[in-house]
Amino acid sequence: MNNFDIIVVGAGPAGLLAAGRAAELGAKVLILEKMYAPGRKLLITGKGRCNITNSAEISEFIKHVFPDGRFLRSAFSNYFSEDIIELLQKYGVESTLERGGRYFPASNKSLDILNALLDWVNKLGVEIKCNQRVEKLLVENGKITGVKANGENFAAQKVIIATGGKSYPGTGSTGDGYELARQAGHTIEKPIPALVPLETKGSMAQNLQGLNLKNVKAVIWVDAKKAGEDFGEMIFTHFGLSGPIILTLSRIAVAALQNNKKVEIAIDLKPALDEQKLDARLIRDLNEQGKKQIGNIFREWLPASMIPVFIEKLQINPEKECHQVTGNERKQIRNLMKNLRFEVSHNRSFKEAIITAGGIVTSEISPKTMESKLIGGLYFAGEVIDLDAETGGYNLQIAYSTGWLAGNSASKPGL
Ligand SMILES: Cc1cc2nc3c(=O)[nH]c(=O)nc-3n(C[C@H](O)[C@H](O)[C@H](O)COP(=O)(O)OP(=O)(O)OC[C@H]3O[C@@H](n4cnc5c(N)ncnc54)[C@H](O)[C@@H]3O)c2cc1C
Repeated sequence: MNNFDIIVVGAGPAGLLAAGRAAELGAKVLILEKMYAPGRKLLITGKGRCNITNSAEISEFIKHVFPDGRFLRSAFSNYFSEDIIELLQKYGVESTLERGGRYFPASNKSLDILNALLDWVNKLGVEIKCNQRVEKLLVENGKITGVKANGENFAAQKVIIATGGKSYPGTGSTGDGYELARQAGHTIEKPIPALVPLETKGSMAQNLQGLNLKNVKAVIWVDAKKAGEDFGEMIFTHFGLSGPIILTLSRIAVAALQNNKKVEIAIDLKPALDEQKLDARLIRDLNEQGKKQIGNIFREWLPASMIPVFIEKLQINPEKECHQVTGNERKQIRNLMKNLRFEVSHNRSFKEAIITAGGIVTSEISPKTMESKLIGGLYFAGEVIDLDAETGGYNLQIAYSTGWLAGNSASKPGL
């Protein structure tokens, strides 16, 4: 048996913050990580740039967290965005603030974030053992006594589970933490993929594959009722729809699909123009360029790859001259521009989901300490908890803050 004060399971951002904070307070800490190296997921965050955190105030921040961000008030008031920015700066990483309050490393390299966190925990004497998959929690008389990894027992008075969710399983996050928590008697809200691309019926999206749209509005309809909308950027793929605004709406889509509801996404290509203004613009262009063919004037209104899709949908002869376009045809053009509809058939799997919704229910965890309410000495941190957020740096901050608080509480004597 090896003896440690605290064992942290998982060397992602939550585990590293938990270990670092506990070691700062003098605890002897071991991290057991099942991959060959720590922080595999952190490296791919923000497309390799790592959106570190968000500048929103706590009251605003928690509105971006589901199912209920209020659980995080205590964690955030102990350790928040300015604290992680300061820690990273101390270890040589400057941050820059971008649109939407998003912080990125000035170097644009997620590797710099991982290296800074590793420098910090190494300096504090945290031991990290890789290729160690924790398979069992050791519990006696309702108190944690250690863990079993690769057939070997590791003793500790406190254990912090920071195993992440189930998304991008190639990074090591395969949902083990749910099983460990279940063994300890915890309730698990069914994990489902969130911030995930959507597959659509028909071939329209496929025909637009690779087209990236900026400044568009997407509206989600569930059983013909408007259920949400977002404005910004999206992309068409070989299977359907992706990109930031689609990922945001995917939460509503996945839940509705699970309940066998009909899900549609309508793209408004001209959100700055209401129906009337758009109609006036179409009338003006069609009148001014009456001798031009409609196929040519479409170039002024739409991205090139969208023109064949419009022509097919409208069943219009592209050689038709603009002055011959009927009022009804103009109405159809306007409808397509404001309401280009896709029926969603499925969501993509965990392999492509940025985050996992669901996890260990928060009602069984103390928000002030991150300790289990069921087993003494057992703590949780990060994505394994039933908390997830929108894109924008929120998810990583949840990992740092809950990790820090778990490490802080676990290392307090007498707890
Ligand atoms: C493509 C992508 C891009 C993202 N970009 C951003 C972004 O820019 N900003 C943002 O805020 N969020 C982003 N996220 C989300 C963010 O990465 C996660 O919220 C965050 O990594 C969660 O941290 P964690 O420490 O809880 O879990 P993880 O980072 O998943 O770490 C868990 C660790 O536990 C280990 N582990 C699992 N089971 C065991 C076991 N049984 N024994 C030992 N070790 C185990 C895993 O190998 C892993 O190293 C992104 C996610 C993805 C997939």
